[in-house]
Amino acid sequence: MKIKKLHRFHIAFLLVLCGCSSFPPQLNWFSDSKRNDDHGLIEQFEDRNQAEVKAKLPPLMALVNAPLQAANPSEIQRCEALLQIPEEEFQPAHPTNFGERKTKDSWGRELQTKPMVIVLHETVINESQTVDLFQTNHPEDHQQVSYHMLVAEDGRRIRVVPDEKRAYGSGMSAFGDVTMRSRPGAVGSINNIALHISLITPQDGRGDVHSHSGYTEDQYRSLAEQVLLWQAKFGIPITRLTTHAAVDRSRSRYDPRSFRWDRFDPYYQRAANICGFHQFDNEQAGP
Ligand SMILES: [Zn+2]
Repeated sequence: MKIKKLHRFHIAFLLVLCGCSSFPPQLNWFSDSKRNDDHGLIEQFEDRNQAEVKAKLPPLMALVNAPLQAANPSEIQRCEALLQIPEEEFQPAHPTNFGERKTKDSWGRELQTKPMVIVLHETVINESQTVDLFQTNHPEDHQQVSYHMLVAEDGRRIRVVPDEKRAYGSGMSAFGDVTMRSRPGAVGSINNIALHISLITPQDGRGDVHSHSGYTEDQYRSLAEQVLLWQAKFGIPITRLTTHAAVDRSRSRYDPRSFRWDRFDPYYQRAANICGFHQFDNEQAGP
């Protein structure tokens, strides 16, 4: 913690030393003609100075806004009724295991906070162990973990974190080039713009095995319907539905193991047809 603070202080100090955009100062003894004569040189210096400052900052996270209108709440309610989706079950996470979507990064730059990416996971442990884990007080950063929702083996949707909040589902992650770093050189995270949903792992998938018997039909159906509802609520195209394995940058996550897109797709198509929500399926067309 002390090292972190010291590091932040050094960065702040360096930025004060070389980050001032009005540098070099316009001193009183500079006559107008002198300024004019040196104008080119000063401009070059300012450009170089700003470029150096900029080079010290990590790139700002930004995902292009998808040109998709979110559905309105009454259309979404109608869809839920047509699909006969049971109510969500509530098992709220302990407040230490989730947070606010951040509006600014460590350098005061504005961040995107709207959910734009849906990340699929599996739990590895069973349902009650998972709920217990999320409801446990975790004061240490490295212990904090959560998803927005779990999908039980019988298809029940278990709400853990509200969509509006930031769930801690993929600490070190990037979607393509997009990630949010808290300091230069550090591995960032996409949690700020992610919705995390996790399938309960079957009995034969406990522990560090490469694969297991897979997920139930109820899980695929329920997952596909929830994905569609989120797409409709936030205007998210299907090309922004991904897996933890695909966005992980810690080189240690490869879930959901044994997930089959060809078992997910028929349920997704069925739900999209019933609700008339075809606009979110841009698979062949890009965003
Ligand atoms: Zn995961």
